[in-house]
Amino acid sequence: MEFVPLDPIPQLAHSSEAMSPIAKKFAPSISSAAWVVMAAANEPASELLGYLDVLMGAAASESFIEMRSRLRETGMVAQFYSRAETDRLARAVAERARVTDVYIGCAPRSCRRGDKRAIREVWTLWVECDGAESAAAAQSLRPHPALVIASGSDSNVHAYWPLRGPIGPREAEIANLRLATAVGADLACFDATRILRPPGTWNHKHAPPRPVRVVSHSPGLRFAVDDVISQLRHVDISQVEQRWRPRARRNERDDPLLGISPTVYVRELVGARPGRDRKVPCPFHHDERPSLHVYAAPERGWSCFSCRRGGSIYDLAAELWGFRTRGREFVELRRRLLEAFAIEVARVERRPGLERSVRP
Ligand SMILES: [Zn+2]
Repeated sequence: MEFVPLDPIPQLAHSSEAMSPIAKKFAPSISSAAWVVMAAANEPASELLGYLDVLMGAAASESFIEMRSRLRETGMVAQFYSRAETDRLARAVAERARVTDVYIGCAPRSCRRGDKRAIREVWTLWVECDGAESAAAAQSLRPHPALVIASGSDSNVHAYWPLRGPIGPREAEIANLRLATAVGADLACFDATRILRPPGTWNHKHAPPRPVRVVSHSPGLRFAVDDVISQLRHVDISQVEQRWRPRARRNERDDPLLGISPTVYVRELVGARPGRDRKVPCPFHHDERPSLHVYAAPERGWSCFSCRRGGSIYDLAAELWGFRTRGREFVELRRRLLEAFAIEVARVERRPGLERSVRP
């Protein structure tokens, strides 16, 4: 299921070059330095620095902070700043946030990568709450989260419990999953590679954009992980284990289903034809501005920039049909897909140059 929704990183020499004509038109016509000064007057910069403190804890100064921002309609661009460069990062966040959605990786990166290979330690636990009920449950949980951010959509919040010492990514994911289960938060947002919206930025899913802001923050408050989760009930952690189990990469060479074009299987499974921007409305939530991106290449698959679900034909069908992508359920999932896509499978198998080694 592990999937990094990232387009190849373009050279972002000057961010104004990356702006759409419309974004350029509406971008304030002031220098970025002046903008930062103005932003500082409203304190989002100090909120952002406080936020980074929560995420980074005492992570080494040579670790990296990942910033991702939306690039036009089609992709995300990842940029990495060392822990020692938080001022530069804050300026970059402020500048990008004027024109697009900006996200920060919740865990420090050990190298300039956004996937799980780059995550060795996690300094905070978090949940993403959709809806007032879950937001209230998270904020009234004992101990209370040290930081709560309103993400700019309805009453949705992100709640953080910073830790006194770092824990491993797998342990963090299990703790996040227990927290999410306890407060009715989004169960798909536990992963250590998660990126979330930092305060002082804007949620550009809305027109006009809405501010991402701090609801409450107790600076310096940190917890032992047990203080946060020991009272919470245990949960099924198979989806966490699955992420950390080394898996042989399947490809179309031995599985024709993985050779089917995402354009074809998204159209069949979701019932929506990707537009010229290669997007369809995501079937897993309300999605006014289509945010499920359909890549051309089967190995890139699909990815929703809103709920961050993504993956292969299996991941999409599994989510839609309520299967897991392992064990017996996977066998049944695959059987149904082979049946549903018999013609496409035959087409992939006939493709010249594709020497299949095994199967059906
Ligand atoms: Zn989605």
